[in-house]
Amino acid sequence: MARSEIRCELSWSASRAREFDRCRRESWYARYASWGWWTERPRGEKWRAMVHKNLTSLPAFTGDCVHRAIEGWFRARARGATLDAEELFVEARALFRTGWRQSAGGGWEQRPNKSVHLDEHHYREPIEKARTDAARDLLLQSSRTFCEHPDLEPVRASEPDSWRAIEALDSFELEGVKVYAVPDLAYERDGVLEIVDWKTGKPREEDRLQLGIYALYAHAKWGTPFDRVRLTAAYLGAGEVKRVPVDAAWLDEVRATAAESIARLAELHYDPDVEDTDLDRWPTDGAPRACRWCRFRGICEGALEGNGGGGSGEGQG
Ligand code: SF4
Repeated sequence: MARSEIRCELSWSASRAREFDRCRRESWYARYASWGWWTERPRGEKWRAMVHKNLTSLPAFTGDCVHRAIEGWFRARARGATLDAEELFVEARALFRTGWRQSAGGGWEQRPNKSVHLDEHHYREPIEKARTDAARDLLLQSSRTFCEHPDLEPVRASEPDSWRAIEALDSFELEGVKVYAVPDLAYERDGVLEIVDWKTGKPREEDRLQLGIYALYAHAKWGTPFDRVRLTAAYLGAGEVKRVPVDAAWLDEVRATAAESIARLAELHYDPDVEDTDLDRWPTDGAPRACRWCRFRGICEGALEGNGGGGSGEGQG
């Protein structure tokens, strides 16, 4: 077996944990089936798995456009310009249109791991106008919430020298494992580290876990005491800004939840460069519940055997 230059090491993130809990086979496709695709000649199963791994849904893509537009808002602010809601919306819409063209027009094929490739385009499923209208409304409402919600005024007024992280992928160690963290915004205000997460979906209980992980990350990265961390979930689409109280007991729970999840992932982790795959260890336990929306439904036996309730077209992947 050809060895990759880099090793397939166990790592953890809140989204990886959700994926694993949804379906172990999905986790295998995403983390192991595509491993080493960049060395595969000629292109084959690894490449195919990587293409499916990079599929995104319309709501997730729309949310990503909001995140990137806000990141651009901060870049403009650092240059001394402040975009209003309409200007932010125009930025987000431009990102959406660019990504849409890349996905629908096949431009993603040049660099599938770095491009927008919508699940709906891949599986040739119709996207009703109501859904694109809803995406547009989400871009607009999110832009308004960011630029106009009174509770986000301190964010908008923050000075660039107070910013500690903006959409920066980073990691820290927990239970001896690399844990990824990408806080949307971390900045200092009156001696407190404010961490804000932009959300374009509905409030979910698991959002609190994600924010708790950011508090652990801030402690590991900057040594910020927990009583100097403030966590905020900004539900931009819903126009709601919620504080998540931080206390030691809750953070112990967050740490314990992450540790349990890491242990579950560690039990199955293997190095596909040097070990054989035992698919029995990665059952299709998400089927049929999770198959309809799973990006691997076109190649996975769990869906293809007919118990997945979807995944009709295999598309170009
Ligand atoms: S298609 Fe279904 S069984 Fe297969 S990985 Fe996805 S959720 Fe799991």
